[in-house]
Amino acid sequence: MRKALFALLWTGSLAFSQPADVPKGERCPVCGMDVNMDPKQTSQIKLKDGRYVFFAEIYHAMEYYHKNRARVQELWVKDAQSGKWIDGTKAFYVETQTHMGQGFLAFQSRMSAVSRAKGRKVYTFRDISPGLLQKHAH
Ligand SMILES: [Zn+2]
Repeated sequence: MRKALFALLWTGSLAFSQPADVPKGERCPVCGMDVNMDPKQTSQIKLKDGRYVFFAEIYHAMEYYHKNRARVQELWVKDAQSGKWIDGTKAFYVETQTHMGQGFLAFQSRMSAVSRAKGRKVYTFRDISPGLLQKHAH
């Protein structure tokens, strides 16, 4: 019963939060790269005023999130396995090398993240603090 109610609430919240289509030629506000350069890294943030901001790397979406926290409503990243948009605040992250150097891959399932990490750390959204981002800043 409890589980059914949870599923209902979860589905309900999805109806109100939606990722937007990524515009062609859009540039990452953090590094200036084309946000479609590496589709697994393409991320987006929905602001409370309804605007969307698109990023070329998950890492840069995280940086933006922490710098503009009061204005952010939603964070969307791509599941590295399916390529589908997932809620970035509920995803699991594994460190990887991107075109910008150090970065993250996102996974919807903890199992998939653990198997990809091969013994390395699996991060939740909460683990990725401003301090951690700064340590790896590029
Ligand atoms: Zn960037």
